[in-house]
Amino acid sequence: MQKILNQINNEFQPSSTGKYLPVYDPSRGIPYAEVPDSSEDDLNAAVAAARAAFPSWSATTPKQRHDLLMKLADLIDRDLEALAKMESIDNGKPLSLAKSVDIPRAASNFRFFASAITQFSGAAHSMNQPDAINYTLRQPLGVVACISPWNLPLYLFTWKIAPALAAGNTVVAKPSEVTPMTAFRLAQLSVEAGFPPGVLNILHGTGTGIGNAISTHPQIKAISFTGSTTVGGKIASLAAPRFKKLSLEMGGKNPNIIFADCDYEKMLETTLRSSFANQGQICLCGSRIMIERPLYEKFKKDFIKKTKQLQVGPPLEKETTTGAVVSAPHLEKILSYFSIAASEGGIFLCGGQRKILDAPFDQGYYVEPTIIEGLSANCRTNQEEIFGPVVTIMPFDREDEVLGYANDIPYGLSASIWTQDLSRAHRMARNIEAGIIWINTWMLRDLRTPFGGVKSSGVGREGGWEALRFFTEMKNVCVKL
Ligand code: NAD
Repeated sequence: MQKILNQINNEFQPSSTGKYLPVYDPSRGIPYAEVPDSSEDDLNAAVAAARAAFPSWSATTPKQRHDLLMKLADLIDRDLEALAKMESIDNGKPLSLAKSVDIPRAASNFRFFASAITQFSGAAHSMNQPDAINYTLRQPLGVVACISPWNLPLYLFTWKIAPALAAGNTVVAKPSEVTPMTAFRLAQLSVEAGFPPGVLNILHGTGTGIGNAISTHPQIKAISFTGSTTVGGKIASLAAPRFKKLSLEMGGKNPNIIFADCDYEKMLETTLRSSFANQGQICLCGSRIMIERPLYEKFKKDFIKKTKQLQVGPPLEKETTTGAVVSAPHLEKILSYFSIAASEGGIFLCGGQRKILDAPFDQGYYVEPTIIEGLSANCRTNQEEIFGPVVTIMPFDREDEVLGYANDIPYGLSASIWTQDLSRAHRMARNIEAGIIWINTWMLRDLRTPFGGVKSSGVGREGGWEALRFFTEMKNVCVKL
């Protein structure tokens, strides 16, 4: 059983309590590693190390930070194969996905913010009467915390850590206790890259334990969180009265709106991905598919056919397109929505069951890709985040009608719109309540663009300058000439 350790001050150590939590291999449903169940004492040690490292780290030049972040990116590239395998085993996602998306993107995150910090600047405002100049500094905050979820473990962890470090902060980071393996490896790589002790500290443990302690720690100046809306709300309720800066990236239930004039083949191929990639466990997945009525029956037939061709199987096998969902509790949650959908009158067009593979994967957490129709827009199945390989399809007749379906929900993360009508595409984009809109595509990302949601999906934005702005404090200096 592999033992994961905390990284504090560049030393690798167990929790001070000596307690561990099991880490499961979702492909087999068995524990294969142990992760420290860290305590407040561990957090205090990590924060003390980060505070001690802050004066010298924040005094480094952007070029020095650039060079270290680039070095770390190179080490991630060097270890691509091994990291992808770890991610696949830890999370249940197909190895091919980890290799082509998760790990390369983690390296890109470091490269992107390494370069960005060399271009980041403050502002100046001159005054004529009286003669004066204001300049606005952008200074690092101090010790900041990064808390990330299990669905894109290294990808999202580095999406926070990279800008935090680039901006000159020192970091206490907590990956999900469900998928901690690549974060542990990242900690080792950061030491190899030459990050000074205390600059990056990675602690493991539960949300209610170490996570809560992070949210209330008086020396942590900011929290960048990605995870569920419920937990985001909890963190906000603890951190806001302590006046911490907060960035919250939370749940989604995104509409995928398909008009009859769309580029059909492109839409169909992309919709298969936006529905079932990573077993539907991407916050951006389009789990509510709305199809203009003239196209409905054709789409339904073709989409079912394509979905049935997906290969649910062991994540490390080459042919697998759909791996295991992440954990037993998450499997139970997804299956419970099958009962809810059935009770709400949903018709299962395919899937709707747990999938049992042959031994030794017969205890793994596999779910058949599932399409449900016949549900109202406001039923629980269509309003609550399921976060599995499950989509609903529904017809619509009018633009204002589908806009109502899209917006009448607490979430507002992303939306896809499929149409060749330029005016309609822009009109819809303007009127949909979401932070990210894709027209005739899905999950096409440019790291410079603002990333995040509205309503219960998020507060603040990540990406590009927004992330560097979040991880810095403005200070205006007024000089009378
Ligand atoms: P989660 O909210 O259960 O956990 C996320 C992280 O928060 C984990 O590290 C967890 O240990 C920690 N945590 C839990 N309770 C905490 C507490 N009380 N205080 C501090 N930290 C706590 O989410 P999850 O199940 O890991 O991930 C799935 C969710 O993440 C989905 O809702 C999904 O939509 C969302 N997500 C959002 C985005 C986005 O960019 N908006 C991206 C990926 C995932």
